[in-house]
Order: sequence, then C-alpha cells, then structure tokens
Amino acid sequence: MNILIFGPNGSGKGTQGAILKEKYGMDHIESGAIFRSHIKGGTELGKKAKAYIDRGDLVPDDITIPMVLETLAKSKDKGWLLDGFPRSLAQAEALDKALESSGMRLDYVVEIVLERKIARDRIMGRRLCVNDNNHPNHIAIDAIRPAEKDGKLVCRVCGGELSTRADDQDEAAINKRHDIYYDDKTGTMAAVDYFKKKGNVKVISVDGSVPIQEVTGLILKQLA
Ligand code: AMP
Repeated sequence: MNILIFGPNGSGKGTQGAILKEKYGMDHIESGAIFRSHIKGGTELGKKAKAYIDRGDLVPDDITIPMVLETLAKSKDKGWLLDGFPRSLAQAEALDKALESSGMRLDYVVEIVLERKIARDRIMGRRLCVNDNNHPNHIAIDAIRPAEKDGKLVCRVCGGELSTRADDQDEAAINKRHDIYYDDKTGTMAAVDYFKKKGNVKVISVDGSVPIQEVTGLILKQLA
C-alpha cells in the first residue's frame, strides 16, 4: 500500500505516520528527516540544503525531487507512506508523473486538517526524542507531556534525551513553512487539491485538533 500524508507542520503528521508504518509494515519516508540526516552526515546534499531549511524555505526541486523519487523506488516492494512531499503543486505533478512511469500506484491521500494558529502553538512546544523523532512529546499538551528524570525532561515513551529543532523555535521560519503549507494556489494545499480533483485516489480528510488516538481512529476507519 502506498500513502501520501499531508498536514501543516505541528499537525501530528509524523506521529500518525509512525503509527501507520507500524500497523501496515510500510516504509515511512519523511523528506525533512532525509535532509536532516544528510546535514548530520555532512554530505554535499546536506550542505546545499541547510541554509534553506534553517530559513524555513523549500529546498529547490532539482535537489528534492530526485532525492525523494530515489527513496520511493527503494520501497517499491514494501509500500510507503510519504510525509513532507509533495509540498507544492509542481512537486505533486512531478510525483504523479514519476509514479505513472514507474508503475507504482497511489492508494490513499491522508490529510490532517488543522487551523494555522493551533499548528503554530504546537510546533513551539514539541520536543524531539533522540531515539525517535516521532515519539510524541509536548510541553503544553497534558496527554503527551514529557516525563521527568533527575529534574530534566525526558521522552515519555522511552526516557530518551529531548531536544528542539532550530527551525521550530524561530517564528519567522515557522511562518514561512505555514505560508507554504496553507497556499492553495501553488503551495501544499494546491498539491492536496490536485489529488482531490484527480479523483482516482481516495482522499481521507481528518480533524487534527482532537487527541492523537482519535485522529488515528478516524484515519484507520477509512483506510479499509
Ligand atoms: P519538515 O521536517 O517536514 O518540517 O521539513 C523540514 C525542512 O526540510 C522544510 O522546512 C524544508 O526546508 C525542507 N523540506 C522538507 N520537505 C521538502 C520538500 N518536499 N520540498 C522542499 N523542501 C523540503
């Protein structure tokens, strides 16, 4: 099964993606995480992408599109859940074309709908676990508040160390990422509309403002 998952930064898309990956045994491909691992590894691609990411800008398509398509091809047999791509109408069109020519089929599009202000507040408070970025930890949401050990906040799932992402604490970078997401002319909302209008793939839209388990329930109910 191949799925695209959409949602503004802060909508819980990564958390839901990790749950779906576990349930269906598919690969969870996160474009942002691939970039961060390139930056950490000091690769040429990472060096080129870093300045864009720090500002909250999109990394140019000539870097991003081939990187994502190569990763998808490796997961052809297992199936994939793609998170963070496409982020623009142009990327949606490129993906659609590439899937057609590679014989891969898109089965579902999952869209997590969340108001911009709620998404922004959620980003600032989220904390990332060193062992798994998708272990949910948030300093302002009771249900997923980090645990405490020796007076320090640690991951509520595994006790791992917590950190923040620089682009999550920078209001200008958050605003830019959301400008891109909520842009329904050429941005990410336009990419979602592209698949809605195409009509040959089931689009599952769920309310992202309810607790994590409820969002999961809403998605699973329709992923039959
Ligand atoms: P994320 O982890 O999804 O918030 O992505 C972090 C950053 O990686 C984004 O702000 C962009 O700079 C870059 N990025 C991730 N996915 C894409 C994409 N599909 N196109 C261009 N840049 C991307």
